[in-house]
Amino acid sequence: MFKSSWLPLAPALGEVLLLSKASNAKRRQLVVGNWKMNGSLNENAGLLAKIAAGWHGAHNADVVICPPFPYLMHTQNALLGSAVVLGAQTVNEHAKGAYTGEVSASMLADLDCKFVIIGHNERRRMQHESDLQVAQKFEAVQKAGLTPILCVGESLEDREQGKHLETISRQLNIVFAHTGKDVFDNAVLAYEPVWAVGTGKTATPEQAEEVHKFMRSQLGVLADSIRILYGGSVKAHNARQLFALADIDGALLGGASLDADEFLAICKAAE
Ligand code: PEP
Repeated sequence: MFKSSWLPLAPALGEVLLLSKASNAKRRQLVVGNWKMNGSLNENAGLLAKIAAGWHGAHNADVVICPPFPYLMHTQNALLGSAVVLGAQTVNEHAKGAYTGEVSASMLADLDCKFVIIGHNERRRMQHESDLQVAQKFEAVQKAGLTPILCVGESLEDREQGKHLETISRQLNIVFAHTGKDVFDNAVLAYEPVWAVGTGKTATPEQAEEVHKFMRSQLGVLADSIRILYGGSVKAHNARQLFALADIDGALLGGASLDADEFLAICKAAE
C-alpha cells in the first residue's frame, strides 16, 4: 500500500567492480537529508512538494529523506510516485518487546523505509549509544532488509591530537567484528567529523579525502564499490567541490535538507 515507485538502481557488486575497472567511473552518488527533530505537518507538506517536484531522478544519483518518526507515513505518501526515497534517523536494535518509545527495523520496513541512519554522532553523544549498540542496530537494519547508513567521525579533540583515524578505525572495527565485512555490500558509510556537523565548519577536501580513502581501504574486496558519504555543513556552495573528490560518493545533510532550494541544488551537484 505504501510502496513508492523507487527501485534500487545500483548495479550489483560484480558489475560495479567491472565498471570501475573498465571506465574508472565513480560510484552511484547518494544525497541523504536528515531532518533531525524539525518540521510540522504543514511545513513538511510544503517542503516535500517542492522536493518531489524538483527531483526527477538521475541515472547516477539517489536522494533520500529521513523525517522524524511521527512523519514517516505522511512523508511516504507525499513522496509516492516521486524519485525520492524514504529513510529513518535511527532504530532500536531489538526485534520487538518492552522498549517503550522505541521503533524496530521491521516497523520501518512496514512503512517502506529503505535506509536507516545508524550511529549519528548526536545519538552517540546525547543518547549515549555505544559502539556495540551501533553494531547491533546495523545488524538489525540489515536483517529487516533495509540499508544502514553507518556514521563514523572523530571529535575535535581527536582531530587536534592526530587520533582521527584511530577513532574511525575503532568505530568501524566493532561493526566488522559483529557482522563481518562481507555484509557491507548492503551498507553505506558516512564520514561525519563531529566538529563539522551543524557548526558551519567543513572538513577541507584534503581532510575529507584522507579519511574517505582510509575508510575505503578497510573494506577489503568491497573497497571500490561501497558508497562513502561526507557529512558536516555541506551546502550548495561547497557540495560540487566535495563531490568531485575521488572517494566521496555524496552527502549526509542536516541543516541544508530543511530548505528545498538548497537541498535540490545539492542533489543536482551530485548528478
Ligand atoms: C548531520 O546532522 O548529519 C549533518 C551533517 O548536519 P549539518 O549538515 O547541519 O552539518
